[in-house]
Amino acid sequence: MTGFAAVDVIIAKRDRRELTGEQIRWVIDAYTAGDVAEEQMSALLMAILLNGMTAAEIANWTTAMLHSGIRLDLTGVGRPTVDKHSTGGVGDKISLPLAPLVAACGAAVPQLSGRGLGHTGGTLDKMESIPGWRARLSPQEMTAQLAAVGAVICAASDDLAPADRKLYALRDVTGTVESIPMIAASIMSKKIAEGTESLVLDVKVGSGAFMKRAEHAAELARTMVELGAREGVRTTALLTDMSTPLGVAVGNAIEVAESVEVLAGGGPADVVELTLALAREMVALAGLDVDPADVLASGRAMDSWRAMVAAQGGDPDAPLPTPRFREIVVAQTTGVVSALDALAVGTAAWRLGAGRARREHDVQQAAGILCRAKPGDPIRVGQPLFELHTDTPELFQGALADLADAVTIASPGTVVRRSPLVMEIIRAV
Ligand code: URA
Repeated sequence: MTGFAAVDVIIAKRDRRELTGEQIRWVIDAYTAGDVAEEQMSALLMAILLNGMTAAEIANWTTAMLHSGIRLDLTGVGRPTVDKHSTGGVGDKISLPLAPLVAACGAAVPQLSGRGLGHTGGTLDKMESIPGWRARLSPQEMTAQLAAVGAVICAASDDLAPADRKLYALRDVTGTVESIPMIAASIMSKKIAEGTESLVLDVKVGSGAFMKRAEHAAELARTMVELGAREGVRTTALLTDMSTPLGVAVGNAIEVAESVEVLAGGGPADVVELTLALAREMVALAGLDVDPADVLASGRAMDSWRAMVAAQGGDPDAPLPTPRFREIVVAQTTGVVSALDALAVGTAAWRLGAGRARREHDVQQAAGILCRAKPGDPIRVGQPLFELHTDTPELFQGALADLADAVTIASPGTVVRRSPLVMEIIRAV
């Protein structure tokens, strides 16, 4: 391939010229190989963040990242493959009940998942609170489990979109994460590389999400749906509310427990609603004619969960870790909860040890927060708003400060109108 000078590619983007497919392929390959310096890629990323990318540039950037590693071949699993990806939120444990539910509907769900960073939780951190459960599987183990059980939640191997791994770490420390083209390319290169035939995206909107505004989330969703269609992956996106945490539990082990409640036919109404909404889209894309609500009620999704956990060495009957210390926050006024801020709760849970500040840190499996009152709930003075969990009691103080303004209580009798959980569905045209 033609060699370019990195500085010429940076200058082209700085001056708002469209990068050619050749320039993009070169810069991604050369950066992945270590031949473009970190400071040069940092400058290019900032120019992209400030000046944006055309649809052709985004498509070429995504394809170049996809081709930086292997693309899994799941044609041998003998079921239609369909995955879900969330852009990340607070209390977002939906992958846990969803993957086994969609497997029980007849599809295969290859959930390659990540770890939490900052205030948003990570699916692998949650699953690792199950005693014995193993996140790392070889491609052969993953394919065998998909064929036998229909669902797998595991870590992506290092050879899947390696350009993204390097670029994501650089974006994280150069203030260049919040670029719609970069987020779309990052997510879609990994999901296309995973080998799924269909994909449902849960694009979060609100204080606890990357995208605070619906129009930005819709633009991200449309960009990703187009990228999927271009690579032959049937893709649908749901825009969903992340202004308040999903469910009651925000943490690791407590989110596993809440997911198991959903699989057992209970659980918080919003978690059940979103699980079923995403499952319906996944089942439709997979061409299956079943109602996930019936499958959930039948108990077959719970059977799939148990099989999925056991296949990865986990004991579905083992008690989950419990915290050494708890603290209750109570209401100071009587009324109706009118708002509960997702970002404040996510940050407080992270501070208690549920999340990590740096990739190399460990999380506390038992740390987190139970939100005892949600928007629309009546509340009286002295009733619990939050239950805080940690193994490190000196962390309570910071978390309590985060939560000081997290709840808004309106006067008694106020009717609280919540925005719909599923705000919009964007399908390929
Ligand atoms: N998730 C990703 O995988 N990449 C991003 O850029 C943002 C969220």
